[in-house]
Amino acid sequence: MNKTALKIKLFGDPALRKKVKPVKEVTFLHRDTLSEMAQLMYAEAGIGLAASQVGVNESMLVVDIGTGLYKLINPKIVEKEGYQVMEEGCLSVPGVYIKVKRARKVVIKAQDEGSKPVTIEAEDLLACVFQHEIDHLNGKLIIDYASLFDKLKLKKKLKELKKRSEHERLPESETKSCKLQL
Ligand code: ZN
Repeated sequence: MNKTALKIKLFGDPALRKKVKPVKEVTFLHRDTLSEMAQLMYAEAGIGLAASQVGVNESMLVVDIGTGLYKLINPKIVEKEGYQVMEEGCLSVPGVYIKVKRARKVVIKAQDEGSKPVTIEAEDLLACVFQHEIDHLNGKLIIDYASLFDKLKLKKKLKELKKRSEHERLPESETKSCKLQL
């Protein structure tokens, strides 16, 4: 299996808080990125991954809950119905689980990797995952849904993640000199 060059950004990385830009014209670069994102998602045993999580500032996501792979460009939720609460984790906030209330059914309009418009009706887990990934594209994370009590409980864990993400963002040379100092 080819190893992808993409890396998952961790909580604390500013890329996760950016609102992505819409893709104006779908090119092979977008198709390549979507394939790499899917590869990374499977390698990390995730069920969804948004472009902002790998530091790509464009509106793209991949989702596979075990029923098939979706590669979507410029996804938008156009309808919401009902609600559900699920305990969600996130590859960018490892080890943290938050109960999030979301719509139980959603209708999504997007483009596929061939630039064709697609409409997807999703419910339950699939609806939850799409909403989670579209949140990422808007710079929103599961911890934003945490209660004050949960936030206090998570304080230490989030601080650790922030430190880890700062370390991972060091340029290669600095990382090396850090290692030599040990
Ligand atoms: Zn996530």
